[in-house]
Amino acid sequence: MLRPPALGVGAALSRAAVLAWLRETDGRRLEALWAAADDARRRFVGDAVHLRGLVEISNHCVRGCTYCGIRAGHKGVARYRVPAGVVVDCARAARSYGYGTLVLQSGEDYGLETDWVADVVRRVKTETGLAVTLSLGERSDEDLAAWRAAGADRYLLRFETSDERLYRRIHPDLKGRVSDRFAILRTLQDLGYEAGTGIMVGIPGQTYASIADDIDLFRGMDMDMIGIGPYLPHPATPLGEEHERRSAAGDWPADQAPNDELTTCKVLALTRLARPDANLPATTALSLVDKAAGRAHGLARGANVVMPNLTPPEYRAKYEIYPEKAAVHETAEAINASILELLSALGRTVGAGPGGRPQTGVSGDGAAGGRTTNGETGV
Ligand code: SAM
Repeated sequence: MLRPPALGVGAALSRAAVLAWLRETDGRRLEALWAAADDARRRFVGDAVHLRGLVEISNHCVRGCTYCGIRAGHKGVARYRVPAGVVVDCARAARSYGYGTLVLQSGEDYGLETDWVADVVRRVKTETGLAVTLSLGERSDEDLAAWRAAGADRYLLRFETSDERLYRRIHPDLKGRVSDRFAILRTLQDLGYEAGTGIMVGIPGQTYASIADDIDLFRGMDMDMIGIGPYLPHPATPLGEEHERRSAAGDWPADQAPNDELTTCKVLALTRLARPDANLPATTALSLVDKAAGRAHGLARGANVVMPNLTPPEYRAKYEIYPEKAAVHETAEAINASILELLSALGRTVGAGPGGRPQTGVSGDGAAGGRTTNGETGV
C-alpha cells in the first residue's frame, strides 16, 4: 500500500494528501496524523479548551431534514420553546461555571421572533457579559442583522456536505426558497459575526472523495469555527431507515465513508491542519459514538472547544436530534465536573474569556465566497 503523504499545515496539505489520509487504515501511521494535528492545535490555538454552554431553546422546526430527529414531519416529538427568563438563568449558570460563551441553538423556528431573540441576546450580554453564539438555522438577512445589532457575536451554520446532490436529498428546500448555506455564511461574515460551519461524517451516500472536497472548502472559507461530528442514525427519520436498510443488506456505495469515531477523528485532524487557527469542538456526537474515548480523542486530535449542555432536563429530553443526545440523567453540574476532570487528565487548561478565534494572521485562500453557493459549486 502507498504511504500517506507527508503532513503540513494550511495550503501545504493537498487534496490528494487529504484523501490518502482519509483512506489510511494503519493505526501506527495514523499516529503521525494525530501528532501533527495536536502539534498544530498547540501552536496555533494553545492548550486552553474553551467551554461554551449550550442551551437548546426550541425544538420546533419548519424543515424536513431527513437525518434530524426534530424534523417537522416527526409527529412523535413534543415541541417546546424555553422561556426567555429560563435562558437568562442558564446564562447565569454558564457564568458560574466559568464558561465564556452561551450558545443558543434551535430548530428553524419562526416562532422565535426576531425581537424576542434580540431581546434575549441583549439580556444575556448585559446581565452576564458572556459572548453569545446563535445557531438558529437559515434565517433572513434582516433577522441576522437585527441579532448582530443586539450584540450576538457568533453564528453557526454547517453546510453538512459539499456533495450538492446529497445535500439536496437530505436537506429539502422550503417551498419557494433554495437553501444556500454558503450565501448565508458570507452574509454572516459581512455582518461582522464570527462564522462557523461544519459537516456530518458518514452520511449514507457520502464518499471519502466528497469529504476531501469538504476539507478543501474549509481551507478556502476562512471560518472561525468548524464543527465535525459523525452522522448518528435516528431510527424515526427517513435517513435513519435508509441507514438501517443498507446496514442490514451491506448495500453501501463504493467509497462510502463510515460514520465511526476513527473517520470522524481523521476529518477533525485534517481540518485542524487545513485551518490551524480555527476553533474546533470535540462534538457531542463524537463523544456518543465512542462513549469511553470519543471526547478525549477529539481533544487530542485537533479540537480545542467543548460545548457542555446547559438545557434544563425537561427540555433537553425533547431535543433528540439523534439517539441519546438528550443524556437526561446528567445534570449540568455533572457534565461540567466530568469535562473538568477530562481536561485535567489531558493536561489541558480551561480557556478564559470569550475564546474567539485568535488573531494569528493565518489566512485562507479566500473568503467564504471562494466557492460561491450550494448550487453553483457542485457543493
Ligand atoms: N436548525 C439549525 C441548523 O440546521 O443549523 C441548528 C440545529 S441542527 C439540529 C444542528 C446540527 O445538528 C446540524 O447542523 C447537523 O449537522 C446536526 N445533526 C442533526 N441531526 C443529526 C444526526 N442525526 N446525526 C448527527 N448530527 C446531526
